[in-house]
Amino acid sequence: MSEVYLNGRFMPSDEARISPMDRGFLFGDGIYEVIPSYQGRLVGFHPHIDRMQSGLAEIGICCPWSHAQWLAMIEELLARNGSGDLGIYLHVSRGTDVKRGHAFPVGVAPTIFAFTFAINPPPTGLPGSAKPIQVASALDLRWKRCHIKSTSLLGNVLHHQQGIAAGYQETLLFNEQDELTEGSSCNAFIVKHGVISTPALDHQILPGITRLLLLQILRAHSSLQVEERVISKAEVFDADEVWLTSSSKELMPVIAIDGQPVGHGDVGAIWYQAQQLFSAHKFDDLAGLSPTTLA
Ligand code: PMP
Repeated sequence: MSEVYLNGRFMPSDEARISPMDRGFLFGDGIYEVIPSYQGRLVGFHPHIDRMQSGLAEIGICCPWSHAQWLAMIEELLARNGSGDLGIYLHVSRGTDVKRGHAFPVGVAPTIFAFTFAINPPPTGLPGSAKPIQVASALDLRWKRCHIKSTSLLGNVLHHQQGIAAGYQETLLFNEQDELTEGSSCNAFIVKHGVISTPALDHQILPGITRLLLLQILRAHSSLQVEERVISKAEVFDADEVWLTSSSKELMPVIAIDGQPVGHGDVGAIWYQAQQLFSAHKFDDLAGLSPTTLA
């Protein structure tokens, strides 16, 4: 039985109880994080906590935990769940009120919940190791504050399911100007003539930590050209390579969109280079790097 953390206590997961009056349940009123841990080594701990804290501040949830307090809780949780390859899910909701009203309640403590789940062993980027995926494309119909890692994920869930229902693994989203935003659960990159591009940070995309680490690693450890800018739908369909990034999947090569091959319809050479660089440097000390520093 896995152990979870809930409001100051560790317990078997089937003993954890949260009231249906919790605002996380009633309104999706909360912020979450997912941090990968490989054999007890965390990837991007500081920027993950920074992003959670800035999301909490932005929606007005007061949770004054320091990085050290989060780390201590996570280390205890890992110790109780074995140190395999695990994702650590953190969730802070505005807390449990006695009545349902849209206005923020006064004097209510946040609900703090954490659990671990198994993730795949990390990709290496070595020849033959790629697990490419195929995706659908769609107009981005989610809410307009996509930079907040809110637990209100219905918009994302519906877009994700759209891709699954069409027989793909993800859905790539575009805004009304036919500009690339991101995937339903990951950030997006394209490669054209050796240049790697990803949409610049704004309210339309989540400031992904994998995106942040990858940009930092590519700039510090390769001579590959990297750009953060507006990317048109036409550019995406004309790209040599398309990748999606997330903490639990790292870099995912996309080989088809809406059934149309990306480039030659195979995993591109730059993906191998980039995933290998990411694999080699993801544990580097990137303290001080905040999710928005590369905006
Ligand atoms: N965009 C969205 C909408 C996401 O849900 C996620 C994470 N699940 C990402 C991007 C990637 O963020 P990260 O690299 O921090 O996992």
